[in-house]
Amino acid sequence: SVRWGLIGASTIARQFMIDAIRAQADGEVIALMSSNPERAEAYARENGIARAVSSLDALLNSDIDAVYISTTNELHLEQGLAAIKAGKHVLCEKPLALTSADAREMVVAAKAAGIVFGTNHHLRNAGAHRAMREAIAAGRIGKPIAARVFHSVYLPENLQGWRITKPEAGGGVVLDITVHDADTLRFVLGDDPVEISAFTQSAGMASGGLEDGAMCIWRFKSGVIAQSHEGFTTKFAGTGFEVHGSEGSLIATNVMTQKPVGSVLLRTANGEEELSFEREDLYTRSLRHFHAAIRGEGQPAATGEDGVWSLASAEAALQSSNTGKAVAIDPQL
Ligand code: NDP
Repeated sequence: SVRWGLIGASTIARQFMIDAIRAQADGEVIALMSSNPERAEAYARENGIARAVSSLDALLNSDIDAVYISTTNELHLEQGLAAIKAGKHVLCEKPLALTSADAREMVVAAKAAGIVFGTNHHLRNAGAHRAMREAIAAGRIGKPIAARVFHSVYLPENLQGWRITKPEAGGGVVLDITVHDADTLRFVLGDDPVEISAFTQSAGMASGGLEDGAMCIWRFKSGVIAQSHEGFTTKFAGTGFEVHGSEGSLIATNVMTQKPVGSVLLRTANGEEELSFEREDLYTRSLRHFHAAIRGEGQPAATGEDGVWSLASAEAALQSSNTGKAVAIDPQL
């Protein structure tokens, strides 16, 4: 079995990841760490976790094989490096760190230690995005020309905390959502971005100089150009992902989400066709691949390198927004 320790008494673990671990035939949640002893106790009790601890050492000294890190973003680096040093496999939330250099340090350390390291980019686990990737790879839209990502949402009230108030915790919509769009674009297109230009805004929700909206323009190695919109403040926008090619267009609706929902339409000279796809829970699939990787079968759905790519992209977007210039994306891998 794979015995998990959770670092962070977070919303995402409570809503999705504890269930995803328990959905594996061989997955167990052994221990939970929160920086606050009372919160650790309460969270462990509410989620049926036997052991609650309030120090990283105590967690890493528990009888566990792997850790899932879902603390606020500024803590991922130190916690990830400590877990790697303790020989635990690491599934880390995005962004892996506050800078791509720090993320690279984790990935290099993980490789040297011979442990499995993954980034929890859930969207590449969505059947919709996998169906799009397969359709493009099979040539069904001809040569891909352009992509459009609609990923501006309304940040739920219960999450209106560090994301919109704490730059030092890695808040802001770019580190929160643009990283996902970077990863999903790379996955669906099977291509890497080389350059980005971004405008960001503070539309009334975020404070402390943080952005709560962003529009990015991307150029990919193949020459494909893309646009993406990330936001916390639009209640009624809906989400979507489109790829337009020389022979057809893929138009996916309601797919930039945590749930296995939405639809994918293929439009060509032959008319319109609704693509069918698997509706497995995204996080359960992520965990399934992570467990397989521990057994030596394949890799996590999103690797550490994928996490470096997404963070390098977000970093370049922020730099572009600050300088008013297009910025090269270079993960230095
Ligand atoms: P939360 O704000 O729910 O939790 C983050 C940390 O905040 C916790 O580790 C906890 O610290 C502290 N905290 C939580 N609740 C309270 C409280 N009531 N009072 C005081 N402190 C509290 O974060 P999210 O779950 O939204 O995000 C966590 C990480 O996961 C981030 O890195 C985020 O980017 C990522 N994420 C990824 C998603 C994905 O789909 N891949 C989706 C959502 C988030 P402590 O542990 O010390 O108690």
